[in-house]
Amino acid sequence: MRKKIVAGNWKLNKTFSEGILLAKEVGELSKNEINSDVQLVLCTPYIHLQQVSDIVSDFKNLSVGAQNCSNKASGAFTGEVSVDMLKSIHVEYVILGHSERREYFLETNNMLKEKTDLVLSRSMTPIFCCGETLSQREANIHFSFVTQQLTESLFHLDADTIKKVVIAYEPIWAIGTGVTASTAQAQEMHLLIRNHLATKYGQDVANSISILYGGSAKPSNAKELFACPDVDGGLIGGASLVARDFVDIAKSF
Ligand code: PEP
Repeated sequence: MRKKIVAGNWKLNKTFSEGILLAKEVGELSKNEINSDVQLVLCTPYIHLQQVSDIVSDFKNLSVGAQNCSNKASGAFTGEVSVDMLKSIHVEYVILGHSERREYFLETNNMLKEKTDLVLSRSMTPIFCCGETLSQREANIHFSFVTQQLTESLFHLDADTIKKVVIAYEPIWAIGTGVTASTAQAQEMHLLIRNHLATKYGQDVANSISILYGGSAKPSNAKELFACPDVDGGLIGGASLVARDFVDIAKSF
């Protein structure tokens, strides 16, 4: 059975003390309210990771994730954070290829292939983001665009390895805009992604990979999104900054 995952992407938000408080609040709420088969992941800024890593160890449904990592293993790359550094403080997940990193920091499919390999090589789980712009959707090239992102960054992996990747479909037009993809749009793309995986790796492998939806998910719409047969959870931005909202989303399966 596929893992159900709700990951919070805090982005560039929360001072250190605010972040620690949020992680503790999420932990306390999750203890009594979250089904044991749902995994919550707190993807925090780098400076929070070590402390949040300690906090989540007290809660069985909770894990910690980074929002990025370097595509270099080590060396003279000022300002970068390596997979070994993340691993050394017990980080379990790493978001890769968020559209904001692709757009503002010019991350390419090839760079993301390198990052994916590094994350997997340290036995951490990549949450690999893909998704189209509004103009690509309007031009009806959204399917080919998303499948190209997956093919170029992930399809060099063998079948056993790609099973360790979590995919997040995040239509860029829905991120932080308050506009959510309809359940039909989300399900259609998630099924397409799963079929694309099946073409290369077979249906069993495709069926084992969790595909999360991201883009203005909130407590009021999470239930209908998570009810889609190919939606296995969510990558949550804005609503992950409020413990009550984040946990309510995770209760929506
Ligand atoms: C995100 O940034 O991954 C995201 C889904 O943001 P939001 O939920 O705020 O749209």
